[in-house]
Amino acid sequence: MILKKQSVMKNIVVLGTNFAGFTAALQIHKKLGKKRKNVKITVVSPTHDFLYVPSLIWVPFGRRELKDIRFDVRPIYEEKEIVFLEVGADRVDPVANTVYLADGKELSYDYLVCATGIHMNLDIVDGLNPKYENVQNIVIPALAMKTREEFEKLVQDPGPVVVGATQSASCMGAAYEYLFNMDKELRRRNVRDKVDLYWITPEPYLGNFGIDGMPGGEGMLKAFMKMYNIHYLVDASIERIESHKIILKNGNTIDFKMAMLMPPFEGAEVMKKSPELVDEKGFVETDGTYQHHTYKNVFAAGMAVQVKPPFIITKTAYGVPKTGYPSDVTGKIVADNIVRLINGESKLISKSWGRIPAVCIMDAGHKEVYLLANHLFRPRQFAIILPNIFNDWGKIALEKYFLWKNRHGYSWLP
Ligand SMILES: Cc1cc2nc3c(=O)[nH]c(=O)nc-3n(C[C@H](O)[C@H](O)[C@H](O)COP(=O)(O)OP(=O)(O)OC[C@H]3O[C@@H](n4cnc5c(N)ncnc54)[C@H](O)[C@@H]3O)c2cc1C
Repeated sequence: MILKKQSVMKNIVVLGTNFAGFTAALQIHKKLGKKRKNVKITVVSPTHDFLYVPSLIWVPFGRRELKDIRFDVRPIYEEKEIVFLEVGADRVDPVANTVYLADGKELSYDYLVCATGIHMNLDIVDGLNPKYENVQNIVIPALAMKTREEFEKLVQDPGPVVVGATQSASCMGAAYEYLFNMDKELRRRNVRDKVDLYWITPEPYLGNFGIDGMPGGEGMLKAFMKMYNIHYLVDASIERIESHKIILKNGNTIDFKMAMLMPPFEGAEVMKKSPELVDEKGFVETDGTYQHHTYKNVFAAGMAVQVKPPFIITKTAYGVPKTGYPSDVTGKIVADNIVRLINGESKLISKSWGRIPAVCIMDAGHKEVYLLANHLFRPRQFAIILPNIFNDWGKIALEKYFLWKNRHGYSWLP
């Protein structure tokens, strides 16, 4: 008698459904091909929205409404028979291969993808938390909308503005964009002459961006600061924030009517509650295959991944930015590697975060700037900063392209 080999159903669970998680889930589905019928993919996220986070910089100035920059992921998952659970994951037990959900249910997995992004560390400086109505930030939609309210109040009653990032922050690029958009919008509303605009940053020099700079970046940003009459302070460390006053560690103070400061990022709460998988900040410890060091069936992608700076930081602490392009790329690498393991292959694809190309468009308000390099971190063979002197719709085109590609489930596109 010939016994037919029984294939065992495999469970893949993806936590998170934005740049990294959405890409990983769709790519796993695509790459599995005919093996798909033996694999159940389940995506877990507290929201069914895909959010194009980079456009949050425009929300405070009314250049984007939230509805313009997000879409519902459920129809795409439904079409591909990917199960979607709209609930947060509470913690992961990698020994029991189980995810505990916020609704009390449990999910067991054969492979897990952690793509839960970040959690803001608002305790780094006293007075930073926007719940005290003092300093704003634009990291999440609700806070970007609150920043819009504060901006409207500022236009009615102008005064000094501080924009920047706290010590240990990593997302300085977005803060620079917000700064230049603030300048542009204040000019458009005819109140720029009533506003002293300050930029404070933990970077050792302008245009460091947390990646140890790009050729010509510092000079270009110095020129922008001069051109737009923006005061700036690098290597800045904040002692505390009081009502409308920033007290720096060097003893100086800056008064403000409105402030927006990027806080440092840590791993999402769910990952912090899964200590076997993460470092002290809650980021998942992987190698260049994005496979966990110890738990080989656990992978991470996007901002959830631990990325250590390859350079020594001698002055004020700052972090490495984890931008959209590498988040998308790591989602793809993880998908590829999980499918390889399912197919019985042992060789995995490896590309460390710093070796992924840098592809970024910075909206500098009146201009936009392209940052391109063959590697995010040095050594690089190619790195260029290119101001676009012809038009300023490159970043808008990128947003439209990215939302179009994902709305249609074309996650395989670059
Ligand atoms: C204001 C701002 C501007 C930016 N601008 C740029 C830019 O111009 N260019 C660029 O390249 N990058 C930019 N970035 C970075 C870019 O947004 C990130 O690289 C990207 O969002 C990372 O994708 P991700 O999927 O790893 O994480 P996220 O986009 O944060 O997604 C995390 C996902 O996890 C889900 N999740 C959270 N908690 C749980 C839980 N408990 N259980 C399950 N799921 C959970 C969330 O709902 C979400 O779906 C910017 C970031 C910010 C904050």
